[in-house]
Amino acid sequence: MIPLCVPQFGGNEWVYVKECLDTSWVSSVGGYVDRFEKSVGDFVGSKHSIATVNGTSALHISMLVAGVLPSDEVLVPALTFIAPVNAIRYCQAYPMFMDVDPQYWQMDANKLHLFLNQECTWKNGSLTNKQTGRRISAILPVHILGHPVDMYPVLELARQFALPVIEDATESLGAFYRGRATGNLADIACFSFNGNKVITTGGGGMIVTNNSEWAAKAKYLTTQAKDDALEFIHNEIGYNYRLTNVQAAIGVAQMEQLPSFLSRKKEIAACYRENLAPIDGLQPFVEADWADSTYWMNAVRVDKDTYGKSRRDLMVDFQKQGIEVRPLWHPIHSLPPYRDCQTFQVEVVDRLYEQVLCLPSSVGLTREEQETVIAALRKS
Ligand SMILES: *Cc1c(COP(=O)(O)O)cnc(C)c1O
Repeated sequence: MIPLCVPQFGGNEWVYVKECLDTSWVSSVGGYVDRFEKSVGDFVGSKHSIATVNGTSALHISMLVAGVLPSDEVLVPALTFIAPVNAIRYCQAYPMFMDVDPQYWQMDANKLHLFLNQECTWKNGSLTNKQTGRRISAILPVHILGHPVDMYPVLELARQFALPVIEDATESLGAFYRGRATGNLADIACFSFNGNKVITTGGGGMIVTNNSEWAAKAKYLTTQAKDDALEFIHNEIGYNYRLTNVQAAIGVAQMEQLPSFLSRKKEIAACYRENLAPIDGLQPFVEADWADSTYWMNAVRVDKDTYGKSRRDLMVDFQKQGIEVRPLWHPIHSLPPYRDCQTFQVEVVDRLYEQVLCLPSSVGLTREEQETVIAALRKS
């Protein structure tokens, strides 16, 4: 069995976790939480970082501090893992689904430009979606598969329309956009340390921002909005979203290995690229010249007519051979909870869903295993 994307624990994980247990610092206060926050913050170059129970809660809180209110709309790509879209609904706001670009599969700034200019208007000081009458309150680009979104055009539109930008950087710890780390490109950003991400804490997340006021608010909201610790005064509805010290201990050990994980991810990507590009009908994902991708998940686009098989046929073949592969995420705008939400010129997302296959990408993938995957794609 060759797994899709599994974690690797080859560093100080055991030592640090043992220390938590030996000292009884196991809960959401402890030295490792601080160290983990500092290590991720330093890596991306951001002033503040707040560890959370997972990436989804980080997204929820980021939107709250960025001012997303009930019945607002948030602009989000229809091609993403569902978490950011669900987090929009946790704020009782609505997703407004945008398309992605056909080459790098990230939120399409040209369509964003068209939407904001054609479909929105200013009403009582608020940017309003003409069709739904709702206020647009944020842009939420998602750096999918570890590749950055082309952010400068998005940030320029955000500036023009006075919208905060929340980066979903959950798949892209270690990616750079024009030399700048993802997670430090916009107003606030979120990471995830779920088991299949670049580094893991089992489950975990992080909010990073340079905005001191937002950082303080995020810390407050993730710790039950406690205004007076002695008297247990809570002036707002808060959340129990803090990461535990045990998980943060694993995170600190994983951060120490991040550079080696990233270089291994890049080797795996280069090997897929060299071997798959010459095969007719297969197009391996390749980063933009302005991007330094983590290649968190490698993917190949299958042109059924040229290759002779569809993405779906290939999935069945791989399953028989014990190689774990998967499609991209199902287009969110056609899933039951979101079918009634508005989309704007979403076309590329559906095509990519039909054609793209994600390939085994674990840091621990051996050369023999990768050769098996490539051979299976050659002979198909
Ligand atoms: C993994 C992921 C998340 C959520 O992270 P969790 O830690 O699993 O809650 C959010 N957005 C995207 C794009 C992801 O891939």
